[in-house]
Amino acid sequence: MGNKERIYLDYAATTPLLPEALEAMLPYLQGDFGNPSSLYGRGVVVRKAVEKARQAISACIGAKPEEVFFTSGGTESDNWALEGVARALRSQGKHIIVSSIEHHAILNCCQAMKKYGYEITYLPVTATGRVEVADLAAALRPDTVLVSIMLANNEIGTIQDISALAKIAHKHGALFHTDAVQAVGHIPVNVKRLGVDLLSASAHKFNGPQGCGFLYVKAGTAIAPFHLGGQQEYGMRAGTENVAAIVGMATALERHISNLDFEQRKLRSFAKRFQELITRKKKEVVFNGDIQKRLPGHISVSFPGYDGEALLHLLDLKGVCVSTGAACNSKNTEISHVLKAIGLQEDSARGTLRITFGEENTLQELISAGEILLSVLAKFSERGHKE
Ligand code: PLP
Repeated sequence: MGNKERIYLDYAATTPLLPEALEAMLPYLQGDFGNPSSLYGRGVVVRKAVEKARQAISACIGAKPEEVFFTSGGTESDNWALEGVARALRSQGKHIIVSSIEHHAILNCCQAMKKYGYEITYLPVTATGRVEVADLAAALRPDTVLVSIMLANNEIGTIQDISALAKIAHKHGALFHTDAVQAVGHIPVNVKRLGVDLLSASAHKFNGPQGCGFLYVKAGTAIAPFHLGGQQEYGMRAGTENVAAIVGMATALERHISNLDFEQRKLRSFAKRFQELITRKKKEVVFNGDIQKRLPGHISVSFPGYDGEALLHLLDLKGVCVSTGAACNSKNTEISHVLKAIGLQEDSARGTLRITFGEENTLQELISAGEILLSVLAKFSERGHKE
């Protein structure tokens, strides 16, 4: 089955490269290729393209160009934020606070840091996946150097009140990082309004190329370099830049920002319509995450008694791509830490699907996917699974 016949409903996992982004990238892979550090004309042309992209991206998030550092994606940005700040502020303390529903790019990094004497506090979340400001206030200590709480969750779509959380962290003298990988390009993200010191983003979540992202670091923030070598990225992240990907990322982000209101409205209505379609025929369903404060095209739905992974494969056979938990963790059959943290019963957690719409989806795809899902669920109950 070709991609054209597939109904792709897994935009939180990755998104297709925008044709304009590919077009903007091609010259830097072919004719205009060059090393941005070279001093001759071709190097200068390529350097200008990188700096133009930095300017464009910084404008999209309300930052200054010199506060944007290009990376290989969300994972690197998250790792760098944690390790870089921890290393720079080692003498001030070794306590870090994160939420219990962070992506593994944060959680596994924290796990590794424990071996180097760092103490990590994992904040609980409410049943809708929200971190309470009071819980953060109670966890902050004089030796807390960094708080890292994601802007929007990749499994249940819940959006946090980052500005309130950052304010309380700052009041106690800690820096604040947010993993905004699922948010950038999909909801308004302004680093000043959020009040954060560091923010991670990844191009492939907003129709840019895979393997490219950025870390926003507020001017004056203490952070150690990530890679050592050449003087690229202001001497903070050595290595020849992925020029074409950086240019593609900027093009994709600018397009998303210029289309943001329309995209948000469309995706919200798609998510609502899909939910209505399912609940009309299927009564025993649970929708996870915050009803109001959530990513526009994001649905996390639990069918208690069903096997989410089996549902996923049956849907795949019928040409519908969805996810069970986080795609980055698809080899892990354990119940997702996010679903556990919101207190979902095992029976419901195992029967959970993540359905995420994107701007390329059509209404016809939504209706077809809904009907296919209902037919797959019906087949399951015929075979004796719980209805
Ligand atoms: N953070 C969140 C919230 C994510 O959803 C992901 C990817 O799914 C990442 C980090 C990792 O990003 P990347 O795939 O660019 O390394």
